[in-house]
Amino acid sequence: MSGVVHVVGGGLAGLAAALALTGAGRAVVLYEAGPACGGRARSYDDRQLGCRLDNGNHLLLSANRTVFDYLDQTGARDTLVGPGAPVFPFHDLSAGLGWTLRLSRGRLPWWVLDRKRRVPGMRLSELGGLVRLMRAGPETTVAQCLRPGALADRLMIPLAVSALNTRPESGSAALMGRVMRESMAKGGAACIPWFPRDGLSESLVDPALSTLRARGAEIRTGCRVAGLEMQGSRVGAMLLPDGRRALPPGDQVVLALPAHSVRDVAAAVLPELRVPDAFESILNLHFRADLLGRLTGDLALARFAGVVGGLTEWVFVKEGILSVTVSAANHLAERPQEQLAAAIWAELRAVVLPYVPPGEQARLPEAMPAYRCVREKRATFAATPAQERLRPECRTRIANLVLAGDWTATGLPATIEGAMRSGLAAARALGPSAGRP
Ligand SMILES: Cc1cc2nc3c(=O)[nH]c(=O)nc-3n(C[C@H](O)[C@H](O)[C@H](O)COP(=O)(O)OP(=O)(O)OC[C@H]3O[C@@H](n4cnc5c(N)ncnc54)[C@H](O)[C@@H]3O)c2cc1C
Repeated sequence: MSGVVHVVGGGLAGLAAALALTGAGRAVVLYEAGPACGGRARSYDDRQLGCRLDNGNHLLLSANRTVFDYLDQTGARDTLVGPGAPVFPFHDLSAGLGWTLRLSRGRLPWWVLDRKRRVPGMRLSELGGLVRLMRAGPETTVAQCLRPGALADRLMIPLAVSALNTRPESGSAALMGRVMRESMAKGGAACIPWFPRDGLSESLVDPALSTLRARGAEIRTGCRVAGLEMQGSRVGAMLLPDGRRALPPGDQVVLALPAHSVRDVAAAVLPELRVPDAFESILNLHFRADLLGRLTGDLALARFAGVVGGLTEWVFVKEGILSVTVSAANHLAERPQEQLAAAIWAELRAVVLPYVPPGEQARLPEAMPAYRCVREKRATFAATPAQERLRPECRTRIANLVLAGDWTATGLPATIEGAMRSGLAAARALGPSAGRP
């Protein structure tokens, strides 16, 4: 193939596709509607807080091999930070109890036998739930696999809610099982947590754009593609803000759009396209608080903690910011921001205070500091068995058109790893040499 590949959508799926294609020598034009690339994983300058923020905290695991390959290509692997070990501090707000889960690095889960490393109060008989998750069929939910107990309440439900962004009563066990098979089942070495040191854009977007530009790709931000047109049996034109762009034979198109906009853009060429249509939101509250480098214990090491028994699910300690993530947050849509922020600040103090030396406690005052609330209304598709059935393959019936995005049939929930794999699959589907892992 010698034509240009038009990648529509500058999120991580589109960027991964563009990297794979340019890596295979293809000419690429990337079209992004927004002023900057990154989509649902982006950083921005927040005027209110006077600092750089991520739209939402993102956690990666060492098991995310596609993400690490991508970072190696763009030279950005060393922009991630983490504890360097499979260490997860947790806090149960209702019990007023903190602990640290320390997984064994190898495949044998010795940690379950050690009371100091495992989940407090868990029974070994609960481990059967993990096996059920990993073997679950397509119609089963996470809740149907887990037995009530501390392992479920203090580990598996929080992990499932954040991996699926869907409550366990409706979340797909098959999707969670796939996450487990690729991470926990491979041992702690596959579960080492990582997150961007400076920001999502600094790690995942800007270095990729520099690499793409160095390979000759054209990046068009602020360029919303309104639609596609057929010419015979192929996509023959794109509708751009500055007019219709005819595509010569040999040109190909990757639609790497969010699920909620792909049907509009593809309406004239793939009217039959069905995609996930139910979504879950994610709430992030970023508070101005300067505690990085001043904490003690496992929170100082990990820089994040899991939380159960309240609204807060994960706490992240960043430069000048304490930040909280709440997944599957549709049920909080009507709660006033100020009320949510006050409740979450009180929870956050309870989690973090035990790790703050007495001399630094003024940095975590009772009065709530300045904050920013970011609600991503359609953060991901709802990872239910019914939505899973709506995920299309990347190939379409049109030879020069493929799909990418975390909502395509990757076998994974909507994650960075899934988005990037979808980009590689799309690139591979266009030609023999592009997108090879
Ligand atoms: C708050 C939050 C927290 C998350 N936490 C995690 C986490 O901890 N770990 C993890 O792995 N994943 C996490 N995710 C999921 C992850 O961010 C997504 O799976 C991933 O970013 C999706 O990438 P994408 O390229 O498929 O889609 P998108 O990021 O949605 O990219 C699509 C792009 O297309 C552009 N676009 C839309 N319409 C047009 C048009 N007509 N023309 C041109 N461009 C257009 C959009 O502006 C966007 O840039 C989180 C998501 C959110 C929102």
